[in-house]
Amino acid sequence: MDLKSGYPFWAVKNGLMTTFDTLQQNIDTELVIIGGGITGALLADHFTTQGYAVTVIERREIGWGSSAASTALLQYEIDTHMVDLAEQYGEQNAYLAYQACADAILQLKHIVSNFADVDFAMQQSLYYASNDKDAKRMRDEFALRRKYDFAANWLDPAALKAQYGIEAPGAILTELAARIDPYKTAHKLLRRVRSNGGQVFERSAVSSLQATESGVTMLSGSGHRIEAKHVIIASGYESQTYLQQSVAKNHSSYAFITDPMSPAALGKLTDTMVWESARPYIYMRTTGDGRLLVGGEDDTIDIPGKRDAKVQKKATTLADKVHALFPQLEFEQGFAWGGTFAETDDGLPFFGPHEELGSRVHFAMAYGGNGISYSVIGCELLQAWIEQKEHPLKSLFSFSRLSD
Ligand SMILES: Cc1cc2nc3c(=O)[nH]c(=O)nc-3n(C[C@H](O)[C@H](O)[C@H](O)COP(=O)(O)OP(=O)(O)OC[C@H]3O[C@@H](n4cnc5c(N)ncnc54)[C@H](O)[C@@H]3O)c2cc1C
Repeated sequence: MDLKSGYPFWAVKNGLMTTFDTLQQNIDTELVIIGGGITGALLADHFTTQGYAVTVIERREIGWGSSAASTALLQYEIDTHMVDLAEQYGEQNAYLAYQACADAILQLKHIVSNFADVDFAMQQSLYYASNDKDAKRMRDEFALRRKYDFAANWLDPAALKAQYGIEAPGAILTELAARIDPYKTAHKLLRRVRSNGGQVFERSAVSSLQATESGVTMLSGSGHRIEAKHVIIASGYESQTYLQQSVAKNHSSYAFITDPMSPAALGKLTDTMVWESARPYIYMRTTGDGRLLVGGEDDTIDIPGKRDAKVQKKATTLADKVHALFPQLEFEQGFAWGGTFAETDDGLPFFGPHEELGSRVHFAMAYGGNGISYSVIGCELLQAWIEQKEHPLKSLFSFSRLSD
């Protein structure tokens, strides 16, 4: 499966940053993480810090899967409204999920605080109603978020027009959001893992996996034997291939990035990411070098060749929508790309074991628009699973919710 098409900006900008070895020996270790994207990198960094002997195995180059294509808006706002989650799982669970995402943004800020150049920056997030019907729903959403003290303000049409130049029936403005370069972050994290004694292999696939009650045995594509007490499958949207049960649907999402613009031209967009309530949505945020990164136009295409053929047309549609929203904004379109994107029915991720593979094989399916925030949450959550400890999100973010 080809996870991305076109020219994902991070890979173009950073190139191949670090070379890691390919697997050329048998391995016997405590924890193997299959996948060297942002999820595997965050997990490897976390577990190494917690004293685990960790080996990461990546079939492509590090970060070269979906993480290279991500637009990497970090939000506490899940694609599924808090009111909808509350209806489905109860208000307390909805609060736990939203609060965990809010905490994840600040945790990630801390995790990357020693990396000078991963383009991490705190942002505001403006979520505007695309139509009157959505504005009504969003008012309920705003009220529930305020009830639980989430950072949020309501902007009426006049305030929205005056402050952002956007004509819409209302918006939720929040001060808790951030942006990052996910590809560079994955590289930097895995370099740190290597310096802290972990092993990282790229261009090395896990081709088979067999779990028993005492451990897991895997074979690499090169025929090497890999033994581990625990395995985490952090293989992004390819993780589904380890399961017979279908737990998510693959879609495609598209993005383009402009040439750098001045802070004067970008105005409030410099530190405010913008997204809308319509589906498929459009969203945008800036980069540290003043580019506007625009994404959305998701569709149900799951065939890389078909996605590839659509990239330019989708980028043009996205650019037209930016022009309609901000008629004064002049920009030159730079790179455009598309990427595979998996979604669960309720917008929540899956972390932990699945009954098909037993208790020593854990999944890190950070699926949904908040994938990177979910990956951060997954670090402590999977540690709780492995160490058989309590965690408030263990049940809600597990496969058990599919059978409840
Ligand atoms: C266009 C787009 C926009 C997005 N925007 C956002 C956003 O704004 N905010 C946000 O939070 N999230 C966003 N996401 C989602 C986010 O990018 C993902 O959640 C995240 O990148 C997934 O990282 P990952 O490490 O789980 O997957 P990946 O980066 O795909 O890494 C998984 C790795 O596993 C490897 N692998 C698979 N099978 C094997 C095997 N058998 N052996 C060894 N290695 C294997 C793959 O090669 C791959 O590199 C977006 C995604 C896309 C595509």
